[in-house]
Amino acid sequence: MNFPNFTSSILQPISTPEWTKRNLSVFVKRDDLIHPEISGNKWRKLTYNIQEARFRKNKTIITFGGAYSNHLVATAVAGKLYGFSTIGIVRGDELNEKSNETLRCCAKNDMRLLFISRSEYFLKADSEYLRDLHHEFQNSFIVPEGGANYYGIIGCQDIWKELPKDLDHLFVAQGTTTTSCGLLLGCSDNCIIHGVPVLKGFHSISEMSKLLSEASLGEEIIQSLINDKFKMEGNYHFGGYGKYSMELLQYIKEKYRQMGLKLDPIYTAKSFYAMEDYISKEDLQNQKIVFIHTGGLQGCKSVEEKEKITLFE
Ligand SMILES: *Cc1c(COP(=O)(O)O)cnc(C)c1O
Repeated sequence: MNFPNFTSSILQPISTPEWTKRNLSVFVKRDDLIHPEISGNKWRKLTYNIQEARFRKNKTIITFGGAYSNHLVATAVAGKLYGFSTIGIVRGDELNEKSNETLRCCAKNDMRLLFISRSEYFLKADSEYLRDLHHEFQNSFIVPEGGANYYGIIGCQDIWKELPKDLDHLFVAQGTTTTSCGLLLGCSDNCIIHGVPVLKGFHSISEMSKLLSEASLGEEIIQSLINDKFKMEGNYHFGGYGKYSMELLQYIKEKYRQMGLKLDPIYTAKSFYAMEDYISKEDLQNQKIVFIHTGGLQGCKSVEEKEKITLFE
């Protein structure tokens, strides 16, 4: 298939009687609908990485992820679609390609999986480790964990091409912060980006500063962008990465019944919760707000299995 095959997503209005009363226009940017497996922001982050790998005539894409990584699946599927072989380096040498649905899906899409110990995985961005990878797997393009590089950022900046310019607030979940960095770089004048980290004890601002400096921005520009246009919503991790409460699962069910919106317990339910909380605590009136639905719904299956519940009914 020819690349780039830029895919856009719809902007869906949602409302509650309360929001209508306060004259709030709230929209969901449905990036979760972009592709069933290369979902949401993973597609955005891979777009220019794949384009660059193709430009360099690389044959193989190598990347990294944990056992439940949406990014690994997305890379496997996108690689297959666009004619690259893929290698996924997975954290945890106790795992194998049948350990869970995520890894099975990677393997099914011909990704070669290498399971390494946590201590080796720790070296994933180390320059000598990367040099050795280039030596072992010749002619390959290495994408960091979560697609967190310059190409990932500019792919997410593209989301602004599909957003109205008169937004007041934008809410987005944060893992590596790549998506929020791209959104921040493209941010229109009066908009505030609210980043909702799903990790406990996470420092959004230092992570974002590090990543944005890779996008060749000067330190002063980065600091002023972050100070003027970014707000971290740090109290919505529900215990940390991959953790959730029964309250959060109930919330997911409720949002589906209320709005027909499917949220996942790892990322989007936490960030949507943060948005609703912000709207009510700040008593917002007459504002235009966008929630970026970053996808991740394949992560629901394992939670439903584990908890023996059905989230969307
Ligand atoms: C990976 C992922 C994120 C995190 O995005 P970053 O760019 O790493 O901050 C958010 N939401 C979903 C659904 C994801 O799969």
